[in-house]
Amino acid sequence: MTNSSLTHRDLQVLWHPCTQMKDHETLPIIPIKKGQGVWLEDFDGKKYIDAISSWWVNLFGHCHPAINAALHQQLDQLEHVLLAGFSHQPVIELSEQLVAMTPAGLDKCFYADNGSSAIEIALKMSYHYWLNKGCKSKTKFISLTNSYHGETLAALAVGGVNLYRETYKPLLLETIQVESPDCYFRETGESWENYSLRQFKKMEIALEKHAHETCAVIIEPLVQCAGSMRMYHPIYLTKLREACDQYQVHLITDEIAVGFGRTGTLFACEQGNITPDFLCLSKGLTGGYLPLSVVMTSNNIYQAFYGDYAQQKAFLHSHSYTGNPLACTAALATLKLFQQSPVLENNKLLIAQMKKATAHFADHRHIGEVRQTGMILAIEMVKNKIDKTPFPWQERRGLKVYEYALSQGALLRPLGNVIYFMPPYVITPGEIDQLANIAWQGIHLATHSHP
Ligand SMILES: *Cc1c(COP(=O)(O)O)cnc(C)c1O
Repeated sequence: MTNSSLTHRDLQVLWHPCTQMKDHETLPIIPIKKGQGVWLEDFDGKKYIDAISSWWVNLFGHCHPAINAALHQQLDQLEHVLLAGFSHQPVIELSEQLVAMTPAGLDKCFYADNGSSAIEIALKMSYHYWLNKGCKSKTKFISLTNSYHGETLAALAVGGVNLYRETYKPLLLETIQVESPDCYFRETGESWENYSLRQFKKMEIALEKHAHETCAVIIEPLVQCAGSMRMYHPIYLTKLREACDQYQVHLITDEIAVGFGRTGTLFACEQGNITPDFLCLSKGLTGGYLPLSVVMTSNNIYQAFYGDYAQQKAFLHSHSYTGNPLACTAALATLKLFQQSPVLENNKLLIAQMKKATAHFADHRHIGEVRQTGMILAIEMVKNKIDKTPFPWQERRGLKVYEYALSQGALLRPLGNVIYFMPPYVITPGEIDQLANIAWQGIHLATHSHP
């Protein structure tokens, strides 16, 4: 089997996610034969550094021996059982560990099998909590511009990236959108902290006006990943937690992308010293092995659903593969890797290396900003550096970097004009340098060529 024979068969029968399929008349699909650590290998024997952790899911590299071994063992024991009326060891152990390791006050775990479903659950639970408490007026959600919470309709409704949202607008819940604290547009010389604080005023105004009809505020703490890896200061989290308490509105934090060490701390919420009312986790939860997500919440919220059956307070929501034992086993093996070595401490070296390897990027004529939060580093290409005028999206400059990087053995799938690194934690400093060189050359090619 070769790349081209498989690609031919692929295009006969597949419709790929988030893709204009016509692009593949010229841009080849890459069938991957195997993975090892940060490396992916295709059917022609070409290797690529997985610089984006296969869409932010992979934490410790592909085909990790310890996760593989745990899965082999679980496979011979129990592959799946329903989670209503039944339970199993992996899901119980995982829940115990998640309750112990997340910020204090998150006491209960409700599972699903993907991030968008976790968001739907958090939104429904928040609304239902207020209803069970006798408050019928709370039916809306406050979300941020440029946010991303998934593709199902309610998740899309609380999202703010127009590229994904605009087409489906007539189908979406009405939401209250507040301007993001993302620091890209701060004044020259202004600190992240100051800008995020200034932007918080807009949230305060919205809460004051809409608290009576609002169930919850939903945010991605510190990094709006799908929204071009835009970043903001943790002070916003602290302020938002205070305001949500003051105005009696829930806080939902979506750590689906940023959880499990991506921002430098195990959870991004820790940097603002907060506990949300609902914490959504997925992606890295299973180390990038299997689909699983969880919504964690407090005993207080759980109690509002607890009562005699006839009171009709229960949360009657389910997914067929909720809490799948294999997925929970992959998650437990992943958490064990965090316990066995000082991962976050070791990552500090990689964080510094990413910064160092891209230090000269900021001087490039067509780079508007290089920004970093922990293990996420983003490079924003612009047409005009002075006023940050973007390249027209039609020119698809990011795609040019992507194609160049593939030719050089790196998977650097961009977000529009933004190139970013969000690698598995097993990447080496040398491989980071390699990535930086490839990105630099690719950006040079993409910005000096005419469309
Ligand atoms: C990926 C993502 C989601 C959606 O998760 P899926 O598993 O793709 O449905 C939600 N929120 C954030 C912040 C994400 O990055």
